[in-house]
Amino acid sequence: MAEINKAPRGTNDVLPEDSYKWQFVENKLLETAGLYGYREIRVPVFEHTEVFIKNVGDTTDVVQKEMYTFTDKGDRSITLRPEFTAGALRSIVEHSLTSAALPVKVCYLGGCYRYEKPQAGRLREFHQFGVECIGATTPLADAEVIALANQLLTDVGIKKISLEINSIGCPTCRAEYHKALKAYFQAKSSELCGTCQDRLERNPMRILDCKSPVCAAIAKDAPVVIDFLCDECKAHFEAVKSYLDAMAISYTINPRIVRGLDYYTRTVFEFVSGDIGAQSTVCGGGRYDGLLENMGGQSQPGLGFAMGVERLLMVLQSQQAELPEPRPCDIYIAPMGEAAALNAAVLCKALREEGFEAATDIVGRGLKAQMRYANKLGAKYTLVLGDSEIESGKAKLKCMADGNETEVDINALAEALYDANFASLAEAFDI
Ligand code: ATP
Ligand code: MG
Repeated sequence: MAEINKAPRGTNDVLPEDSYKWQFVENKLLETAGLYGYREIRVPVFEHTEVFIKNVGDTTDVVQKEMYTFTDKGDRSITLRPEFTAGALRSIVEHSLTSAALPVKVCYLGGCYRYEKPQAGRLREFHQFGVECIGATTPLADAEVIALANQLLTDVGIKKISLEINSIGCPTCRAEYHKALKAYFQAKSSELCGTCQDRLERNPMRILDCKSPVCAAIAKDAPVVIDFLCDECKAHFEAVKSYLDAMAISYTINPRIVRGLDYYTRTVFEFVSGDIGAQSTVCGGGRYDGLLENMGGQSQPGLGFAMGVERLLMVLQSQQAELPEPRPCDIYIAPMGEAAALNAAVLCKALREEGFEAATDIVGRGLKAQMRYANKLGAKYTLVLGDSEIESGKAKLKCMADGNETEVDINALAEALYDANFASLAEAFDI
């Protein structure tokens, strides 16, 4: 029996006390991506299974082991998105976005689903932010996308992270590489895991990405793709590097990066953190020049990346980054008696319409308990409202930080709060 008071394995709740961190990061990511011309695209959480099989690749871990696939009541095979690129490109093709001015630049944000072994930094429901840029083959396009990923990580507050890049060539130069890889792994084929023995024939590069320790140990000494690049791919990679150099974005070349999905060509890259344990890749991406055509769209080059929001937050936490905390409650109005409660309700409504966070008693507490609650809320000001205050139209606005009280006109409470906020700002900035 499933436990009904426990979230499913590999899923996390984001509690109200933490959600501001998510909101800050998400807003920042969308805002920075906007500076590079990316606009958000929202695609369904589920797609026809075929969309992922065909585009992520049927020899990848994601498709072979990790997808949440089910048959719906209409007998269709449906899969919860394990990543966004396939769905985003499906949408770009469906809505002919490439017939407008190129490049098409879209970004996305949302939950992804993979049936994996849950551990730190590896969940079954996790969140990705990513971008896709369609219609540009120039090396500058690659450098610009990498620069965006770099700025996103900096703008959310990450102080230290390393960029690793590689080129995995085009189908032409990769054919040679596949031969060399096959020969290498063939000699050790009996030691490979069952999945990789099958991959040996169909797609030997996928063995390089296998998580089994035995396969990983064998793969360590395998030939690397960068030694097999054709002249054009070599020149492209050299140009990407010079753009990165010119933009002062530091990187190291890691010839072992192949990426976990089948659709990549030429440039691939990862941002890796030393601060979050074994699941250290925060962002991964690269070029996928054949993918749009593979989806039934125009033959257009593409590139992009995806970052894991949970891993990004883990880096921020381990680097003790200070994220802007949510604004506290502006005012708590504590009524004494029924008439005052009615007045407090009306005042709160008016203040909220003016953009203040205002609270009053809705559970029926006595005055003392109300003040304790106002403290817990972290209210900046409190105001006690009794019969005499209602009669005189005047009440004392108490600043909770210093205990100072100012007499204010109840009917001009919003103005009093503006003034008080202004005065404390002026004090803070010494003006
Ligand atoms: P890994 O090698 O860690 O399995 P991947 O190659 O499968 O990663 P991608 O498909 O490239 O990852 O996804 C991009 C990013 O999404 C990753 O770099 C990571 O930050 C995040 N991510 C991927 N899978 C998970 C997961 N199961 N839980 C949390 N974050 C994930
Ligand atoms: Mg994976």
